[in-house]
Amino acid sequence: MGKKSSEWFRRAQASLPDGVNSPVRAFKAVGGEPIFIDYAQGATLYDVDGNSYVDYVCSWGALILGHAHPDVVAAVKQAATRGTSYGAPTPGEVELAELIKAAFPSIELVRLVNSGTEATMSALRVARAFTGRKLIVKFDGCYHGHADSLLARAGSGVATLGLPDSAGVLEEFIQFTLTLPYNDLAAVEAAFRQRGREIAAVIVEPVAGNMGCVPLQPGFLEGLRKITGQHGALLIFDEVITGFRIAPGGAQERYGVRADLTTLGKIIGGGLPVGAYGGRRDIMEKVAPLGPVYQAGTLSGNPVAVAAGMAALKALQQPGTYDKLEALSAQLESSLRATADSTGAAVHVNRIGSMLTLFFSDALVTDFASAKRADTVRFARFFHGLLARGIYWPPSQFEAAFVSLAHTPADIEKTVAAAGAAFKELR
Ligand SMILES: *Cc1c(COP(=O)(O)O)cnc(C)c1O
Repeated sequence: MGKKSSEWFRRAQASLPDGVNSPVRAFKAVGGEPIFIDYAQGATLYDVDGNSYVDYVCSWGALILGHAHPDVVAAVKQAATRGTSYGAPTPGEVELAELIKAAFPSIELVRLVNSGTEATMSALRVARAFTGRKLIVKFDGCYHGHADSLLARAGSGVATLGLPDSAGVLEEFIQFTLTLPYNDLAAVEAAFRQRGREIAAVIVEPVAGNMGCVPLQPGFLEGLRKITGQHGALLIFDEVITGFRIAPGGAQERYGVRADLTTLGKIIGGGLPVGAYGGRRDIMEKVAPLGPVYQAGTLSGNPVAVAAGMAALKALQQPGTYDKLEALSAQLESSLRATADSTGAAVHVNRIGSMLTLFFSDALVTDFASAKRADTVRFARFFHGLLARGIYWPPSQFEAAFVSLAHTPADIEKTVAAAGAAFKELR
């Protein structure tokens, strides 16, 4: 890449593990060196070398409005001048909680935290306390943050590094985590037949985003709802990506299935660090100080972060928002497919709403096993073909691309033209 990015990367490597604060940013899965970002506006990233890129990472889905949305920027500025943290309750936290509850009828009480990882980790603790059971069921290729008990077959970042799970996670920490194939209800039924009385909860990405975008098989969520209900286990929807993205009320609204507990993150912070977990009142009443499950945070409900989140969620309430996202994303999907076909590239495009993955595979991708059949070498060349043409696609085959409200039909056309040229280079 550019000279200045390269210099910053060298300098970063002297102080940060491989120069980054989150692994996938280092481009390990695609080779080469990361670009260093100077600033961003709308759907465009500008690197320190003066290059610009149409951005499909959008902070891994957090920026559904695009970068530096004026409402969010104004809210952050205003909040910051009033003090950046108090460690005491504020009206803003209450209002954000109310907006979340209005979008998710299954959430009666909610706790704000600082990241998606904190949200899922805490939701599991609550589920175990509420049920008095030990086991958690998760699915291969679903990522729920980096808490110990959830780092078993956890998709993207981990898949990219080729680690079965993480060093430093004791066997003892994941012995109560059962991992099953995504979209496979028969496997869930079998697990519950065997150990149903020990299972505290099933946690699932209701549309997978962390093995690339993998849609649901019809009936999967309904089946999970039924089986968990029959066995007294809780159903946790990890809507850290899908919440406010595939519908305001996430997968629960889109597919009409209600979770017992829901985890949120990304979009609800408007690009600042906010996560949340919430759900049925009787379950959430276990959380301290109402109940015996301890969970706390110095910066939880931070006034600046909450102001950004509120501004983002309010902007999303404008009429036509989700129709516009759907139209742009459908344009991207169908044009990418047409371009791939015309150049003879063997790809499958998976899309739900504004989450999309182009898999270099001639077979359908319905779970982690089929995702892993994709040709990551071809993907890496495609990625660099796009990057060289001013398109910042997620730097791993196993990540979803995100369309934002700041993208324009012209951005999509530019992207598809670049993809066409990149496909041709693969022949
Ligand atoms: C990003 C993500 C998380 C973790 O959120 P962080 O804020 O990165 O800790 C959890 N679950 C899902 C589905 C995610 O996509």
